[in-house]
Amino acid sequence: MPVHYENDCNAGALWESYRGCPEGTEIMAFLAPGTGLGGGIVIHGHLLRGVHGMAAELGHVFIVHSSFVPGVEPLCGCGRKYCAEAYVSMAALMKILPAALELPKWKDHPLHAITGDEMWRKRAFQVRGMAARGDELCLSIFEWQARALGKLCFQVANVIDPARIVIGGGFIEGGLVLTDRVMGIIRHTFKELAFKKHAEELVIETASAGDQAGCLGAALSAWQFAQVW
Ligand SMILES: [Zn+2]
Repeated sequence: MPVHYENDCNAGALWESYRGCPEGTEIMAFLAPGTGLGGGIVIHGHLLRGVHGMAAELGHVFIVHSSFVPGVEPLCGCGRKYCAEAYVSMAALMKILPAALELPKWKDHPLHAITGDEMWRKRAFQVRGMAARGDELCLSIFEWQARALGKLCFQVANVIDPARIVIGGGFIEGGLVLTDRVMGIIRHTFKELAFKKHAEELVIETASAGDQAGCLGAALSAWQFAQVW
């Protein structure tokens, strides 16, 4: 039996492009902030895989973004500073929270109540839900991450000039109110930076399949593979 596999965010990009433009004529990018910050690029219905299978690693594009806690510059999972993933990912949250919760302003924050094994992972997992409920610290982290994503969209727009940039991953799974708020910040940050044509015409929207885009895209990718095999 033939076996086919696909990078999770490439799969997500393929699905969202198929859903958004089934005729396969568009250029689009997919950004999926979750555990890390994955990316995918589809050019006229085909995934951009690159020569080494390493294309569209958009989480490792550098952006200029101020630290959430002054003086604390978190490292990306790849070991570098300034990657977009160092700001927008669950991994980033786990590095930002220890410094944020040490600030006098947050010494009584409810996240301090979570203790024990894997404390920082558990605390990081609570941030999205607390942001959705209006917690000041968690909401300000989400807004700071949204501004970082807007800057990454600007970099992506300048490299591939897409019709759409689709945002998926766990970042947009915090309910309609939070998602509308962060998407508004992403678009606003992007438009402030972008060239006029992009500011006016480039569409930034949420993934139609939410965090499931990768699963559906993996099936689509295997189906496409089976057609030519
Ligand atoms: Zn990196």
